[in-house]
Amino acid sequence: MSQQKKLYIKTYGCQMNVYDSERMAETLAGQGYVQTAQPDDADMILLNTCHIREKAAEKVYSELGRLKPLKHAKPDLKIGVAGCVAQAEGKEIIARQPIVDLVVGPQSYHRLAAMEAAVAAGEKSLDTDFPEEDKFDRLGKRPAANRGPTAFLTVQEGCDKFCAFCVVPYTRGAEVSRPASQIVQEAKELVDRGVREITLLGQNVNAYHGQGPEGSVWSLARLIWELDAIEGLARIRYTTSHPNDMTDDLIDAHGACEKLMPYLHLPVQSGSDKVLKAMNRKHSAEAYIRLIERIRAARPDLLLSGDFIVGFPGESDADFQATLDLVEEVGFGQAYSFKYSERPGTPAAERVQVDEAEKTERLQRLQALLSSQQRAAQEAMVGQSVSVLFEKPGRLADQMVGKSEFLHAVHVKAPSIQKGDIRSVRIVESAPNSLAGELVG
Ligand code: SAM
Ligand code: SF4
Repeated sequence: MSQQKKLYIKTYGCQMNVYDSERMAETLAGQGYVQTAQPDDADMILLNTCHIREKAAEKVYSELGRLKPLKHAKPDLKIGVAGCVAQAEGKEIIARQPIVDLVVGPQSYHRLAAMEAAVAAGEKSLDTDFPEEDKFDRLGKRPAANRGPTAFLTVQEGCDKFCAFCVVPYTRGAEVSRPASQIVQEAKELVDRGVREITLLGQNVNAYHGQGPEGSVWSLARLIWELDAIEGLARIRYTTSHPNDMTDDLIDAHGACEKLMPYLHLPVQSGSDKVLKAMNRKHSAEAYIRLIERIRAARPDLLLSGDFIVGFPGESDADFQATLDLVEEVGFGQAYSFKYSERPGTPAAERVQVDEAEKTERLQRLQALLSSQQRAAQEAMVGQSVSVLFEKPGRLADQMVGKSEFLHAVHVKAPSIQKGDIRSVRIVESAPNSLAGELVG
């Protein structure tokens, strides 16, 4: 192994980028890199970027501009751009910002070691291919060192749905599912390292259709049941899903699989059928509402989360009202909402746009409604007992923070709690973004 060097990774965007950053750090560990939390200290800085919304590429160029003095002060510092902006911009990044040494797309980071070697030899290195080989096979075994009690595990990448607003099918490529045996093996290794909760990731995770044994094809539900059998693994989650891929076996698993947590992130984007059609979502508002009824029949205490876009091209006041009506009818315990932002190369970017002030006003109204639902869902937890997986110390003495089965952050003061413990907690207070509780018994 070569001499120890320091790596600083800044991760933007979704959980899949968090997983990718972890795997890139593991790959570069083989090149002698250890992670640092200080960019000033680093021998290599990697920006793992997101392209999903608003001026994403411009934000990356500004960040690179801020790194310029550091690069000039430390000419040996290597700067890399990874993730979806790397994929979308490619060699334009090096042309616009010559301080960049390395550009790697999300499907190519198994080649990082060779790229780093080229960069160390003074070359620029660019790889934004969609390679034939299996990235995960090439990445190989993950390290055996102990780690925190929760982990992400990518099971599926890419998307074939082509929603009219979304860049994912272009930056992450076609939908690909990892073979089930590879995922089960990685999950077992994570559990051996102290992980008790695994969140399965995919841009469309419930479209998972991975190769199973003897030529079979496994659904996400089949995979969840296989993971359910891993001793030591206590909790399974998955994200993000598309309503059209909520199959019967997955809904049944929500009712029957105890390790599958009662939390579901199921974006609907809009409550207007006209807008849903223009978005190419391929389902109606009514179909979403009926689907949620079926899932809640299987798992009545499920906490539902969603994504919403306001101000999509063509959205009228009546369309926006239909979104508010859907939110009122369904009830969300948590949600993300965004103003539509034009993504170059996507069909909706070419359409007549809604006025910016109108978008802002609609977003404020929607967020006020969603926040009131979130607050009500949190307040309803006061007096109830939940199970909490503790992840880290809190800010106060003897305080630990963990997540309930409903993904609420829960603070508890008790010196006996260890990281990785799962304890029964009675909720005594609801704060704006977290709950406080006491150990039961
Ligand atoms: N695959 C998931 C689905 O279909 O629901 C969502 C994945 S996307 C990475 C996450 C969220 O970003 C979307 O659900 C959508 O609400 C939001 N989003 C994507 N493109 C957007 C755009 N152009 N403007 C605003 N929000 C956008
Ligand atoms: Fe993007 Fe999700 Fe639509 Fe795929 S299904 S295009 S990831 S919003």
